[in-house]
Amino acid sequence: MFRFLAGTFSNDLAIDLGTANTLVYAHSKGLVCSEPSVVAVASDHHGRNDRVLAVGSEAKAMLGRTPGTIRAVRPIKDGVIADFEVTEAMLRYFIHRAHNRSKLVRPRIVICVPPAITSVEKRAVRESALSAGAREVYLMEEPMAAAIGAGLDVTAPTGNMVVDIGGGTTDVAVISLSGIVTSLSIRCGGDKMDEAIIQYVRRKYNVLIGERTAEEVKISIGTASPHAKTQTMEIKGRDLVAGIPKLVLATSDEIHEALIEPISSIVESVHMTLERTPPEVAADIVDRGIVLVGGGSLLRDLDVVLRERTGLPIIRSDDPFTAVVYGAGKALDDLELLKQVSFE
Ligand code: ADP
Ligand code: MG
Repeated sequence: MFRFLAGTFSNDLAIDLGTANTLVYAHSKGLVCSEPSVVAVASDHHGRNDRVLAVGSEAKAMLGRTPGTIRAVRPIKDGVIADFEVTEAMLRYFIHRAHNRSKLVRPRIVICVPPAITSVEKRAVRESALSAGAREVYLMEEPMAAAIGAGLDVTAPTGNMVVDIGGGTTDVAVISLSGIVTSLSIRCGGDKMDEAIIQYVRRKYNVLIGERTAEEVKISIGTASPHAKTQTMEIKGRDLVAGIPKLVLATSDEIHEALIEPISSIVESVHMTLERTPPEVAADIVDRGIVLVGGGSLLRDLDVVLRERTGLPIIRSDDPFTAVVYGAGKALDDLELLKQVSFE
């Protein structure tokens, strides 16, 4: 009877627990939630009795603007879970939000995890999901989900390379026959680009800008190529000498210069993974190219630079933000595939 109900009014979910954004896909509904992975926590004056104030975009708006008793936390930093309790609170919030109406049927949940997390962290994620109401939990590695979401046939005996440039990490993976042949995760993604912009503006203009401003600059005028058409943007920060707010007019050439280092790290991670790839599989990648996903892959001209430096075809996924969650959603809807690509 319950099994029958569970099959009929399925509440199953797929969750992409990203360092920057968390996305939730619900069976037969599609994408039901897409929010920054940020939690605002309030504690009393002794720094105790943590209480969740806000999750998602509301909490992100508080980043860098909180008084002493409130912390806006990104619980998954650099691809590892930095704060278990906050991660659990966030997961619980997103699961409940996806199911605001019916709490009758406990869902089966597929959670995508960064490939670099430890078995302790995997257990913690699983337990958080169970305590948040999941009936069964499947973990799936993000590169695998990304490849499925990007439309690659991961079960075929053909090699595919996926590069996922997220907030905290860049994950490079070669997939064949439903498994990961080689992979590499580096702690360099969109956040490192933002930090590099902060450092640059500080060094060059003696002005301190916030993380959110740096991200806006990167998205508006950042470029991976030295040949891009020059654009300018006004940036607001605090003058480190005079101590007062100040406007700086930054150019895209300057932001390019600031981004050289993180971009080189990303290119290098692709080279290193190619070096470790068995020759037959490498030959497949020469033919099929490299698929780019993740928000960081949207950086202007990053595809051009990767093409120049690897000599391989570079394919940008149509929707870099949702590839992982849709890939996990496909697995959720196809039990046979799920068994092949996930682990318990
Ligand atoms: P994660 O999977 O780690 O949560 P996402 O795939 O959601 O990360 O990507 C988030 C990153 O993408 C952030 O660092 C964000 O600044 C960056 N990003 C979003 N849009 C752009 C853009 N147009 N150009 C460059 N970077 C971008
Ligand atoms: Mg991601």
